[in-house]
Amino acid sequence: MSAGFERIAVIGLGLIGGSVAKAARARRVAKTVVGVTRSRETAALAREQEVVDEVALLAAAGVRGAELVVLATPVFAMAEVLAAAVPGLGEGAIVTDVGSVKGPLAETLPGLLPAGVHYVGAHPMAGSHRSGLAHARADLLEGAACVLTPGPDAPASVVERVEAFWTALGARVLLRDPAAHDREVAWVSHAPHALAFAYASALAEAPRGAVALRGGGFRDFTRIASSDPELWADILVQNRKAVTAPLLAVAERLSALLQLLEAGDADAVQAFFTAARDALAGGGTNARSGGVNPEIPTAPSAASKE
Ligand code: NAP
Repeated sequence: MSAGFERIAVIGLGLIGGSVAKAARARRVAKTVVGVTRSRETAALAREQEVVDEVALLAAAGVRGAELVVLATPVFAMAEVLAAAVPGLGEGAIVTDVGSVKGPLAETLPGLLPAGVHYVGAHPMAGSHRSGLAHARADLLEGAACVLTPGPDAPASVVERVEAFWTALGARVLLRDPAAHDREVAWVSHAPHALAFAYASALAEAPRGAVALRGGGFRDFTRIASSDPELWADILVQNRKAVTAPLLAVAERLSALLQLLEAGDADAVQAFFTAARDALAGGGTNARSGGVNPEIPTAPSAASKE
């Protein structure tokens, strides 16, 4: 499938930017894919592996003539990177991105653009605990949701073009406003990472011999705590307001569970786990209220309060 782009540029050839570039080439989404990197080693690797058709070390040079520019750096760096690219952006160019938090980007990026250039935020819901171009994959986005967060000023034709781009890479496009996106990903991505890091940190208190007993459950639960601390500190801090709700809800559940365990109330613990498992099987949230499934107990049962 061709989305019909002549020239696109990807700024930041890491895990996600490298995967976008690889997919764009593999699926012939654009005639020319340009990669912009700050690193000579990454530039050499990108050339050697033919991740892109052209490599540039400066953003303004890399985006010259591009119809679509994909920002694929950490969220905190995007405004600076876009400002550096602006002198190269031509009339009619479109800017999209891959950042995991959309509110702060929706507030800052459009204001940096010259007249005739539009921004449509995007967040492909695909990734890994690994970083860097060496781990990029052409099939990373296949079947993944990609959330677009167009602002009120983005013309419908521009949104359609960005939608065609992400669809051509193999993603399923969903639309949200930036604040709704940030609230929703706080639950399904950002809180799980915070909890995995918190658990991994608490392991410092585990008995020394525990390390030898690690099995599948441990690996399943802790994989994402091997993610890049700089990238995830950026994401959690950028989305700190929205991530408070899920983290407080988990803290509440944990405290209720501890009380049930202290009381030795096996029936109540089983009911807690059954309700949690059923909620997960049903998608985990209560679509009607827009909140958390009320079936999961938040306080010890009457029996456990004896
Ligand atoms: P990554 O592998 O570390 O790649 C990020 C790239 O951005 C780096 O390779 C570097 O590229 C560039 N970069 C880093 N710091 C920079 C700075 N200060 N200024 C300019 N460029 C900088 O990280 P990633 O996982 O691809 O994440 C990139 C973006 O994707 C983030 O915004 C993240 O929120 C989002 N995202 C991540 C995931 C995930 O699971 N990892 C999933 C969806 C979205 P060069 O060395 O080539 O310059």
